[in-house]
Amino acid sequence: MDQTKPGRPLRLGLIDGDGIGPEVVGSARRVVDEALAAADAAPVDWVPLPMGRQAIDEFGSALPEVTLTGLRDTDGWILGPHDNASYPPQHRVAPGGAIRRHFALHANIRPVHAIPGIAAVAPGIDLVIVRENSEGFYADRNMAVGSGEFCPTPDIALSVGLVTRAASERIAHEAFRLATARRGQVTIVHKANVLPLTMGLFRDTCYEVARGYPQVRVNDEHVDAAAAHLVRSPGDFDVLVTENLFGDILSDLAAQLAGSLGTAASLNCSETRAMAQAVHGAAPDLAGHNRANPVALHHSSAMLLRWLATRRGEPVLARAADRIERAVAATYEAGIATADLGGLASTSEFTEHVTARVHRW
Ligand code: ATP
Repeated sequence: MDQTKPGRPLRLGLIDGDGIGPEVVGSARRVVDEALAAADAAPVDWVPLPMGRQAIDEFGSALPEVTLTGLRDTDGWILGPHDNASYPPQHRVAPGGAIRRHFALHANIRPVHAIPGIAAVAPGIDLVIVRENSEGFYADRNMAVGSGEFCPTPDIALSVGLVTRAASERIAHEAFRLATARRGQVTIVHKANVLPLTMGLFRDTCYEVARGYPQVRVNDEHVDAAAAHLVRSPGDFDVLVTENLFGDILSDLAAQLAGSLGTAASLNCSETRAMAQAVHGAAPDLAGHNRANPVALHHSSAMLLRWLATRRGEPVLARAADRIERAVAATYEAGIATADLGGLASTSEFTEHVTARVHRW
């Protein structure tokens, strides 16, 4: 069944997760509801689903079957963070990774730009990290059976890295398509000098795909050099395409250059499904204190609405996304921010300020 059929009300999954999850997911839901109302779009049919610590207690699994089944019948979903390091040893598998794998969400799109009114280490930064999401060095998704990490003896640990031409091609197309609509430049980030087979295949496949996009400039950098380059001169980058682990690390670095992890958004997608997810984790130090910054999830939700707007042919959803982004910007311009950005607003106060501003245009 095509869940994204135009005209039918949006049905979105809503997964709180752990730590600050319930606070930031609740905030995102409220802002999406108001933005859709302000844009004259039909209201969302929300489908709350369990994941994480609470799901272990209630269903005996951090990612119960009811959640996977429930997500299948939605148009997309908002995923809160998980804190799997704190789960009992038999439940340590990262539920977010398992969801990405289950639904083959191969692309993780992570835009990074400084926000007017917010102090940034790199105020001119404006780039997108396109991260391959389904393989690489992630032990939970690079084997058909078992883990990509194993110990032949208690004193020896091995790790498998997986790179395929098919996945590299797919992610390269995402990056080049995106660059076509931006400033027309892609940097392939790899480490083929020490991993010539895996990273060499990734780099060379991206270059092959580049031939189909002659209007896009392309270059490549080793990941360590790219990290230094990002700090030295972030304005040199437009779209970076890279494998899973490098993409995760570079996007935290870039997010901090832009302001705070609390504002870093991301969308995980395939051709047919999309999931809004903040770059940050569960931040257990802030959980329950009403101090978390919900903006990463506001921006991620806006990305989800834009993706749905294109897929369903419903521009009204893109207009709602615009409202969310403008409302967040206007809130910051008014000098209102959460503590991570030096402000005094609580999560709920900040949410109310954004909610009021989505109706302004
Ligand atoms: P993961 O590996 O799951 O991404 P992590 O170990 O990288 O998690 P996070 O949970 O992302 O760590 O958070 C690191 C720190 O950044 C937190 O302890 C918190 O102080 C800060 N932080 C993260 N997210 C936010 C947020 N939304 N608002 C404010 N501060 C945040």
